[in-house]
Amino acid sequence: DLYFDLTHLSYAYADGTNALTDITLQLPKGKKIALLGHNGAGKSTLFQHLNGILKPTAGSISFCGKELNYSRKALKELRQQVGIVFQDADNQLFSGTVKQDIAFGPLNLGWTTEKIEEKIAWAVAQTQVEALLDKPIHFLSVGQKKRVAMAGVLAMEPSVLLLDEPTAGLDNYYSAQVLQYLAMLENGERTILLATHDISLAYEWADQIIVMEAGRIIYNGDPVAMFFQE
Ligand code: ADP
Ligand code: ADP
Repeated sequence: DLYFDLTHLSYAYADGTNALTDITLQLPKGKKIALLGHNGAGKSTLFQHLNGILKPTAGSISFCGKELNYSRKALKELRQQVGIVFQDADNQLFSGTVKQDIAFGPLNLGWTTEKIEEKIAWAVAQTQVEALLDKPIHFLSVGQKKRVAMAGVLAMEPSVLLLDEPTAGLDNYYSAQVLQYLAMLENGERTILLATHDISLAYEWADQIIVMEAGRIIYNGDPVAMFFQE
């Protein structure tokens, strides 16, 4: 069973930069996939295609067997299913309190109040931000902001979770804890795609590794095979 199916996808930014070239890639259900690559390799451009922020210049992309549709309604549905936690939490947090921020996504989904409350409580518990709920976002530390951003995305119960450098800016101690916390995000069906520079994190956690270089996929397969090739 597949979530995403990308065929010969390419993307050029308005200034002509070819950020993605001929990407053919399938993302099955229930996988833990690490996306490795240097700065500028195309990882975040790829993420932005998976939740419909960017539209391919060439090639195609489908989700659950259907070609992506970029109407407002279809994008709203897609973004409920495909959650992104950005590298810089400040890009996705608004103002107000932690609780208001976490509620923002779920409030937009047309769910009942009971369901919204239940999902928020669950996400808050998973990310351990109970003690922060009434704090203004701008008083939080970097690590706390990352957890609040994660809670807001988790509360929408995404099928696919895109994590952009979750260990960036955290020291070794907190990075090690991110591994534990990644395990909490698994639910059998959910696919987690994690962009990282951290090769040991990728090796320990992932069951599939994709390596990008200059907009192309140069490896896609088993972590063990990757580290013991050559
Ligand atoms: P990564 O996430 O792996 O660091 P990106 O997807 O951010 O890589 O970038 C891929 C390429 O696209 C790089 O060459 C980068 O400079 C370029 N790029 C990213 N955003 C823009 C933009 N808005 N306009 C032009 N080029 C961009
Ligand atoms: P500091 O104020 O020193 O920056 P943080 O707010 O980063 O502290 O971390 C406080 C707590 O949050 C710690 O117990 C740490 O384990 C946890 N933590 C920090 N970042 C993350 C993260 N990305 N995922 C999960 N837990 C985290």
